[in-house]
Amino acid sequence: MSTPTFDNRYRTAWAGLARPEQAGNELRVAGWVHRRRDHGGLIFLDLRDREGLLQLVIHPEAAETHEAAHGLRAEDVISAAGTLVEREAGTVNSDLPTGEVELRVSSFDLLADADTPPFQIDEDDPVSEELRLQYRYLDLRKRPMTEAIVLRHRVVSAIRRHLEAEGFLDIETPILTRSTPEGARDYLVPSRPQPGSWYALPQSPQLFKQLLMMSGFERYYQIARCFRDEDLRADRQPEFTQLDMELAFVDEEDVLATCDRLIGQVLAVGGIEAPQEIERLTYGESMLRYGSDRPDRRIPIEIADLGQVFAASEFKVFSGALGAGEVVRGFATSGEFPRSRFDSLTERARSLGAKGLVWGVLEPDGWRSPVAKFLSEEEIAGMMAATGAKDGDAILVVADDAATAARVLGELRLDVGEPEGGHDLVWVVDFPMFEWNEEGQRWDALHHPFTAPSGDLEADPGTWRSRAYDLVMDGTEIGGGSIRINTAELQSKVFGALGMSPAEAEERFGFLLRALRYGAPPHGGIAFGLDRIVALLAGRASIREVIAFPKTASGADPLTGAPAPVDARQLRELGLRAQAPPAG
Ligand code: ASP
Repeated sequence: MSTPTFDNRYRTAWAGLARPEQAGNELRVAGWVHRRRDHGGLIFLDLRDREGLLQLVIHPEAAETHEAAHGLRAEDVISAAGTLVEREAGTVNSDLPTGEVELRVSSFDLLADADTPPFQIDEDDPVSEELRLQYRYLDLRKRPMTEAIVLRHRVVSAIRRHLEAEGFLDIETPILTRSTPEGARDYLVPSRPQPGSWYALPQSPQLFKQLLMMSGFERYYQIARCFRDEDLRADRQPEFTQLDMELAFVDEEDVLATCDRLIGQVLAVGGIEAPQEIERLTYGESMLRYGSDRPDRRIPIEIADLGQVFAASEFKVFSGALGAGEVVRGFATSGEFPRSRFDSLTERARSLGAKGLVWGVLEPDGWRSPVAKFLSEEEIAGMMAATGAKDGDAILVVADDAATAARVLGELRLDVGEPEGGHDLVWVVDFPMFEWNEEGQRWDALHHPFTAPSGDLEADPGTWRSRAYDLVMDGTEIGGGSIRINTAELQSKVFGALGMSPAEAEERFGFLLRALRYGAPPHGGIAFGLDRIVALLAGRASIREVIAFPKTASGADPLTGAPAPVDARQLRELGLRAQAPPAG
């Protein structure tokens, strides 16, 4: 990182960057008292600034300074002047980058004193997340948090440098806008001058970036805040950051190659080497082999289709399912498999929607399985060959409709498998365009309705494919995008397939349909989840660890108290009435 030259009354250098080359120099440093130790007349202070810690030493000879230093407490803010000296051999601290030097203090100023913090900054004691977030400004003073936020900055800076060199323009898009469907609920903001009308906060800049392509900017990017009112399961935040990109005059190959180059640069910031060309897997293959469109390929288990093996089986559970157009699939895994473990896996399979789970282990004295007597030697051999099972391995098999079999085996694979090796990146491509929404009895777009479909568009929409792609890292989707529709006719047709009447399409997306009639170039793009990428690079389990001011898992901000009630007057101005919160 570049070092500013500052020379003012507070400091002349970063404390955390002091090195032996500067020994003998008079320095002034400023920061927070990390720790104070009194040792036989000498007072040692660890002074902390953004760049790290530096040991300050105060000798008793400087009586007044020494006396004042006695009163210093953790987190007091000081500015100290003195001579930087090399530490004597034996007192070097190899844990600190500044550990070979110390500042012999001649004088210091107390700039601000600090109350006793609610938790120690210089220790790793477990602190509840609620308390950490309530005092986030103190939490961020801890080294690992400082490092995570600095890493985030470095990632964003690498992105900007790389994309600017590739001709992308950074263009902002509105926050107060209309609904941009990405499959979540909108956050709504009431309009004061137009009572009864609402803005929606963008779930993504999707339509604006497409309009920018129609405006002729050709290559756009934005580090964009997005808002999705989702149930806050898993590791979600109501607002999160995407690296959003769009390119004109491109097809899939151009977008993926552009992203391969970009991802190489981004991962390099975290010391991870990405392949020059990231492998691709079709959605169909991914669902078959890994039971997921977010495959964690670090787990060395692959699902095999056993349809051929059991087509004519005596075992009716298998042959019956196959006869009814369902599938029989399974995988092999090694490990300890007592009966109780199979019982709990069977329970798990059922809770995931499977009719049941067939299991077996090939032991030295034969095939141990509740269904052993129904399966022929050839079937067992065929199953072992297809799943790559070795002697002693367990095999888990599901006979069900393809979607259920994939989902169940995909989850069981994650349950029993352990990731191996470094990192894994893969593009998943060739998705279906729609998925059937049982509840609503209609088709939903698997990506979003602006994705270009492919396949026979005269045939049933259930058969359409989409020109979409997702980037998956270590089993987590880190980016997704598509080539877009660029004619009003096709866009209307897709709205129609989604069950939208022409009037509704006009009402919600008339502006897009009109824009598509004024010369819309072929275009496509992608958005990457920046929080997630930084979390992966920082080796943090949660994106909350790489966001300066995140919300809790229930969407609250314990620091500011948001969300909070507002004045009755504010509501009146907006033509709204407060509803009492539900009792309890
Ligand atoms: N707008 C999409 C999303 O947020 C990304 C894209 O299609 O570019 O997932």
